[in-house]
Amino acid sequence: MTIFEQEKAGGMTHSSHHTLERGHALYPGTFDVLTLGHLDIIRRASTIFRRLTVAVAQNPGKAAPLFTVDERVAMLREAVHDLANVDVASFEGLTVEFARKIGAKVIVRGLRAVSDFEFELQMAMMNESLNPEICTVFMAPAPAYSFLSSSLVKEIARFGGDVADYVPAHVAEKLVKRLKENDVR
Ligand code: ADP
Repeated sequence: MTIFEQEKAGGMTHSSHHTLERGHALYPGTFDVLTLGHLDIIRRASTIFRRLTVAVAQNPGKAAPLFTVDERVAMLREAVHDLANVDVASFEGLTVEFARKIGAKVIVRGLRAVSDFEFELQMAMMNESLNPEICTVFMAPAPAYSFLSSSLVKEIARFGGDVADYVPAHVAEKLVKRLKENDVR
């Protein structure tokens, strides 16, 4: 019996808090560009949480993005169309504020290597102090994706390398096209 079935059956009186937390999770990120590593985290999280919202953060602190927020949302939507409990959104401002607004009690973040850890932990602690009701869950991707990053993929594509193994096909196509457009300009 899963924790959800136990809840339905009226058992496990102390489980309501946990099942509530497992109900709706938010996976925020820049997703410029969406990689198979992001998608691996999305698939894993979608099997753990009842509902997963993947949200593109409008992050003015980051270097000029290659794709607009709307383009990133569209690419994510296409990539998750087969996952019934996953939806895609975008937001501006604090992640915890957006999580609160949509009723998500968990923030999902991916951890690739030790190098991610310090920044991710710092952010998780800060988010916890901003809103202690929302907790951060870290997920590791499959080893095959643990070296993948959006910036590395963009760099490979820029130098004409094949990115077919690192991003979904529809993203690879748009990436090559965008880099060509930028070259012409
Ligand atoms: P941000 O700018 O918020 O770090 P990213 O789009 O780069 O946004 O990443 C979003 C989240 O996905 C982060 O938690 C990041 O660590 C994680 N992530 C990025 N690439 C991978 C990968 N290859 N495997 C697992 N997690 C990843």
